[in-house]
Amino acid sequence: MTTRAEYDQLRSEIERHNRLYYDQAAPEISDAEYDRLYDRLEAIEAEHPEWVTPDSPTQVVGGHAVERFEKAEHRLPMLSLEKAYDKEEIAAWIASMERELGRSVEWTFTVEPKIDGDSLELVYEKGALTLAATRGDGRVGENVTHTVRTIRGLPQSLAGAPELAEIRGEAYLELADFRELNRKLQEKGEESFVNPRNLVSGSLKQKDARVTKSRPLKFIAYGLGSLKGKKFATHADVLTWFSSLRFEIPEVKLCRNADEIHAYWEEQAAKRDALPHEIDGIVVKVNDLSLRDQLGARSKSPRWAIAYKFPAREETTQVQDIEWNVGRSGKITPVAKLKPVFISGVTVSNASLHNVAQLKRLDVRKRDTVLVTRAGDVIPYIVKVIEARRPEDAEIPAIPSQCPVCRAAVEVTETDILCNNSFACPAQFKKAIDHFCSRATMNIEGLGPEWIEQLVEKGLVKSLADLYALDPAKLLTLERM
Ligand SMILES: [Zn+2]
Repeated sequence: MTTRAEYDQLRSEIERHNRLYYDQAAPEISDAEYDRLYDRLEAIEAEHPEWVTPDSPTQVVGGHAVERFEKAEHRLPMLSLEKAYDKEEIAAWIASMERELGRSVEWTFTVEPKIDGDSLELVYEKGALTLAATRGDGRVGENVTHTVRTIRGLPQSLAGAPELAEIRGEAYLELADFRELNRKLQEKGEESFVNPRNLVSGSLKQKDARVTKSRPLKFIAYGLGSLKGKKFATHADVLTWFSSLRFEIPEVKLCRNADEIHAYWEEQAAKRDALPHEIDGIVVKVNDLSLRDQLGARSKSPRWAIAYKFPAREETTQVQDIEWNVGRSGKITPVAKLKPVFISGVTVSNASLHNVAQLKRLDVRKRDTVLVTRAGDVIPYIVKVIEARRPEDAEIPAIPSQCPVCRAAVEVTETDILCNNSFACPAQFKKAIDHFCSRATMNIEGLGPEWIEQLVEKGLVKSLADLYALDPAKLLTLERM
């Protein structure tokens, strides 16, 4: 049984994470972890409906307008989307709509990639852009017109426009631009961002629009708010209209049932790593706008749309140790040994810290809780330390003054520490042999790291030339020969 005190505590914790996420663009936990807290709150509220008040995090969309920007009320609330994680949940969603309508329907759904950015509403009055607002709490957002105007390619006016058109979509950044911007921020000693979405959000909420202008934000249009002086029958028609107005629109496909939706989801999941921007799932919408009107909305989300999510790419876990790895060129890099954590299909137990400068910048300590990300083929890396969860006994790692393998004194550069012992350093020597024997260099087959380890340890190979003069009798003394 959950006590009222536990419920209140969970609720204020979620509210705190909402503020960190929406107002400060500096989340302390992964989205997956947030979803777990949120699901728990929902479960408790299902048991204790008498505890639910209209300001519960389950009843409002999430962020609330930050004081320093002018508030902007949405004519129609900007709701969030219900989430699904498997085909059964999609089928259940379709069934729930038929129950709501009281009949079975020959469905047409639009499916589109769900770009991971920051939602905006653009208000065009008689064709002129008069307001751009963030989602905020869904009813009141922030007026960010001055920064949104700097987004390249965004139509400032609409040709042949109706009296009022509210165009909703996502501001986003391509991954390459995100990495480049973060690198520049770090160089200037400024705080970098956890992911593209947070950088977009931070860029839109700038007092000085020149900062926003210097960042290559993009906008993709995917939905309507209020519309006066024009009518559409389907969502696909709306998108075609957006495109004719020179908005970027998502690539949309039509599906008829849960099987087809799931097939599209799988297709997009397979493409995910090759795309220039982050997508975190697909969005499924009822195409027929009159059906949408009949279905309406719940307090937080429309009944006619759902987000079918991909597995999370970020997770939080604990640093158990920091080890030092000596590379072929003598560069000594810190590697975080993590409490194993499952991230988008793979168990991750090591994360690269790149170099000493990065270790110091992130201030990663032994026993810290960290946010780890794994995107595409990139080696998992630590994005940030969750300082709020730093334990008393967190230990600042000592930067080695000696090579951890050969004990030679290290050279300290601005970003790295180096062992200059070259082939006299067993770590470098083994890696050099490995590199030498690899297909790319000499193509000596069957000489893997385990063999090299033994050859060097037993003193059979002291130079690269020794590889060609190996004594077969001595080789037989090695394991598995
Ligand atoms: Zn060494």
